[in-house]
Amino acid sequence: MNWKNEYQLLDLEEDKVIGFTCKKCGLYYAQTVKELLTHYNSQTYPAELEKNMQCKKWGCNGPLRIEINQQHLIEAFQGGLP
Ligand SMILES: [Zn+2]
Repeated sequence: MNWKNEYQLLDLEEDKVIGFTCKKCGLYYAQTVKELLTHYNSQTYPAELEKNMQCKKWGCNGPLRIEINQQHLIEAFQGGLP
């Protein structure tokens, strides 16, 4: 089972954190589903995001690997923000 093809953004909770890792330069950044919904259609599959998005780093434009960042959610739940 691959969640990237199974869920659309509208199926994910808005505060879910999606992590993006550049396969080229290793840059990592995270965005919540809510933030993604401001740029993308709610019927977008994460697999499509992975295919269409590029590394944010200037001049890199490398392909990204996408994942749901569960750990971040757990930490936020336990400790809150500093
Ligand atoms: Zn990159």
